[in-house]
Amino acid sequence: MSVAPDGPVLWPARHVGEHAYCPRLFYYMQVEGVFIPSADTEAGRGIHTRVDRPSTTPADASHAPARAGRRKRTEPQANRDKNTPGETADSSSTAAPDDGATADDPDRPRSVRSLALTSERLELTATLDLTEIAGEPHRGGIAVPVEYRKGRPRHLDLSGAQADEELEPGQQPLTRVEPWPTDRVQLGLQVILLEEAGYTVPHAVLYYATERRRLEVPIDDALRADALRELAAAKRTASGARPLPLVDDPKCPRCSLQPICLPDEVNHQRRIALTIGGAPAGEPPSPRRIWPPRDDGIHIVAQTEGVRIGIRGSALRFTDREGALVRDMPIASVESLAVVGHVQVSTQAVHVLADHGTPIVFMTAAGRCIAWIDAPGPTSAALKSRQAQRFVDAQSRLDFARAIVAAKISNQRTLLMRNAQGTPGSALDELARQADEAAKAPAIDALLGHEGQAAAVYFRHFPAMIRDDTLSARFDTHGRRRRPPPDPVNALLSFAYSMLTHECVSALRTASLEPSIGAYHTTRPGRPALALDLMEPFRPLIADSVAVSLINRGEVGPGHFLDTAAGCALTDHGRRAFFDAWGRRMATEVTHPTFDYRLSYRRMLMLHARLVAGWLLDEVPTLAFLTTR
Ligand code: SF4
Repeated sequence: MSVAPDGPVLWPARHVGEHAYCPRLFYYMQVEGVFIPSADTEAGRGIHTRVDRPSTTPADASHAPARAGRRKRTEPQANRDKNTPGETADSSSTAAPDDGATADDPDRPRSVRSLALTSERLELTATLDLTEIAGEPHRGGIAVPVEYRKGRPRHLDLSGAQADEELEPGQQPLTRVEPWPTDRVQLGLQVILLEEAGYTVPHAVLYYATERRRLEVPIDDALRADALRELAAAKRTASGARPLPLVDDPKCPRCSLQPICLPDEVNHQRRIALTIGGAPAGEPPSPRRIWPPRDDGIHIVAQTEGVRIGIRGSALRFTDREGALVRDMPIASVESLAVVGHVQVSTQAVHVLADHGTPIVFMTAAGRCIAWIDAPGPTSAALKSRQAQRFVDAQSRLDFARAIVAAKISNQRTLLMRNAQGTPGSALDELARQADEAAKAPAIDALLGHEGQAAAVYFRHFPAMIRDDTLSARFDTHGRRRRPPPDPVNALLSFAYSMLTHECVSALRTASLEPSIGAYHTTRPGRPALALDLMEPFRPLIADSVAVSLINRGEVGPGHFLDTAAGCALTDHGRRAFFDAWGRRMATEVTHPTFDYRLSYRRMLMLHARLVAGWLLDEVPTLAFLTTR
């Protein structure tokens, strides 16, 4: 296969570079601080709950190795679990003695949990699950590290071509049970740290909880060399750019970072750009659908005046202005909290929500976002700096702006086609022409012109989508006007665009992007310019669609609006109806035209925010935003 000089180079399938693990996963977790729990990681946490409890008995503190960290204690004999490796026949030599040795006896064998060791020479720190120690460091002391694993060890098939039908009845296939390479490397590094701390390490142990199997790992120079080689490779990875995702790798469907990493989506886009002998390399396979189409969490909007939000145990507690309980909501199920108007949120609630990584947005009754509270979360300095660099570059800004404006106009056309009966073909043709022109506009100014001309056509025919004659006529009189909104349809649109801005800010933050640095929208104090960029293609699909359907389904009517000096605004009842419709729309699943799988609109925003991040890092060669037909 030859690759065009300027084309992307794909990694070979299942390539893991010089590592025995996924380098991209390592980079996300160690460099960018990204972690998402999964069923596997939670099960692993359960297995480690006991073994990670620090050892603290004062009598044993004096036996700490010279470089041991703060957490160590001899495990009380009474706490020993007969299924843990410390009491198997293999480890009988490290069991607590009954030969009269006292707790002060430095030679007394003991088990130390969560032993933290550091080597300045190697620039390496590790916390060892369990260490069986006898004697003192530098005085002939012996240490055996015991590493806990949730799963199974590697079962290596040695039967070659031996087919099932060739096996004698009752005969098991020939296999060898051994540690996984990553587990072996981890133990090797622990051995090196213990040796540096002055212990002799005769062997190491891996305990696989699923099979309750203890594997003894011999210590030799090959183990030490493998461990040091992986350590050096990990350091090289950490000091470079984020590695590309694996290709068609079976690890990815089980990886908790898959929704952030998007391995199949990134590789799909890279394959599209790949040419062989100057011709496209063919249609790549659709990405595996390994991301649930929607989240199961609850997005809360609190807008009843006087409501207080506090904490009760592991729940958010809502009380009314008299202090009566309205409801409790388990914190773990809350994905976001929007606070509208005069609702009080306690400091404790803010702390707990921040701890859970749940964003809070404060909005005025008119829907204007006035503050966001978001936990620091994962940050990628490299990505933010790349974002700033790319958006200074005029060509990059233009490429990005073309993609979002062309997608927006295309989606405006689709919405009119579906909902505005009697829209003349000439208007639809004009929108198609403006979308085409926008996709190849030579400059941002030209793009602004195409967007403006498309908006004029779109909003001229917008009233035809509204089945309430009164509301439709009022909008027809004013056209689209923002500050202040002069009529109910404009008020609904402004409110919906504010909500969409908030959703886009959240999506960008989860992708480690800086919402204030945009490409099409210029950066101004307090303006989430990139969120305004990202929302352009979604304005018709989400915000306009919610406004139109609210009226056409009869969920809001003229009675749900107040005309004030500050413009037209939704009443409390009107806002409640709006938020119901908004929640439904964000949970609606739509098929992605390129990846051919369905995602909710909320997930679609996250997907595109992460694809923008991939484009900024040159992982994804082209930008394509969601368009519907
Ligand atoms: S999804 Fe695959 S490529 Fe991405 S971090 Fe996980 S294992 Fe690595």
